[in-house]
Amino acid sequence: MALCLGHPRHGYYMKQDPFGAQGDFTTAPEISQIFGELIGLWAASVWQMMGEPRSIRLVELGPGRGTLMQDMLRAARALPGFREALSVHLVETSPVLRERQRATLAASGAAPHWHERIEGALEGPAIVVANEFLDALPLDQFVRTPEGWRERLVGLDQNGALTFGLAQYAPSPTDLGPARDQHLKVPKSATADFGAGEGWGEGSFDAASASPTKAASVSNPSDPSSGPAGHLLPQGREEDAAPAGSVFEQPLAALEAVSAVARHVAAGGGAGLFIDYGPAHSGFGDTLQALKRHAFVDVLAEPGDADLTVHVDFARMAQAGLAAGGAAHGPVTQRDFLLALGLRQRLEALSRRATPEQAASLARGVQRLIATGPTAMGELFKVLAVGDPTLPLLPGFDLHRLPEQS
Ligand code: SAH
Repeated sequence: MALCLGHPRHGYYMKQDPFGAQGDFTTAPEISQIFGELIGLWAASVWQMMGEPRSIRLVELGPGRGTLMQDMLRAARALPGFREALSVHLVETSPVLRERQRATLAASGAAPHWHERIEGALEGPAIVVANEFLDALPLDQFVRTPEGWRERLVGLDQNGALTFGLAQYAPSPTDLGPARDQHLKVPKSATADFGAGEGWGEGSFDAASASPTKAASVSNPSDPSSGPAGHLLPQGREEDAAPAGSVFEQPLAALEAVSAVARHVAAGGGAGLFIDYGPAHSGFGDTLQALKRHAFVDVLAEPGDADLTVHVDFARMAQAGLAAGGAAHGPVTQRDFLLALGLRQRLEALSRRATPEQAASLARGVQRLIATGPTAMGELFKVLAVGDPTLPLLPGFDLHRLPEQS
């Protein structure tokens, strides 16, 4: 996944701008300007809660076309003190998208700074936002077999085509993390979804030769203590154990991103806001998917030419934020978050100044952002904030104040 998205020459994000109707997918800031405006106001009120520090970094992780930051900065003008205090820092690995961000933000007067890695962007008081960033970070998958957990790897079949297989040896306990424990519940759909045609059971291949970068994390066959071992089986009653075929995902890069932000704001002040699609509760299941021209495609069919994403396990992201010393707010649904921030009021204000066509288009965008249903943006997308624990409950998470939901 890391190579498919981030290879310097062939990586999906490195060579193109994938957004919009002509591209492969559309994100919330590209659907409605109100999305970024509300997040800009969210950032401004966090800054006020922090006691209005005279200098603060506004950091965005994976800014895409720069649209979210552009809309945030426009909204931030409502609070001149915040606009003057902030400096813009963008964490972006793609040279194509950096250029695009430069063009989008040229008129904002923001003079952004770009960083390759999150750590480089974090210094002093900071407000961090990340929309559809965590879903682009690579993760490891493990499949439950009758012999125990095995890492799922990509290799070549007899015809030289890419195929999934399983590592021959058990992973180390630290690779698995919570899959060893009993607190993950197995959703009914997790195994039902797991098609036999996926090939995981059709043989395994040598992990070391298939994936050299993984070799270090896979058990050493010459060390018997790292072989298929009873201690890797989930402890507890037999009927609670994950059934064969269950897939456990270990999103180390995303957990580390949330931890880094939480650790920083707990010490330096501020908060981080993560918006993405995924469940509020942990479970088993294979969530890796590929998108091209707004349709799902086979995840192995077009490496580097289709977007690869995973669903974000928000419960574990919140735990990572807490473990790093931050406070966790949410997760809440995108719908509840945006409504609590005043989505309807902003829509009304903009519509009063718009032509009937513009007003209809604004209303359609807003409706898409908050639509309900298991695959609709308002419900599938969750919002999690990790903040300096000395701050009060952050805006958008005090849902008892949620306005009319209809
Ligand atoms: N936030 C934007 C774009 C989301 S797409 C929006 O909502 O429209 C994911 C973004 O993350 C892209 O800008 C991509 O280039 C960037 N990205 C992906 N992997 C990254 C990584 N490891 N480090 C930094 N940026 C990354």
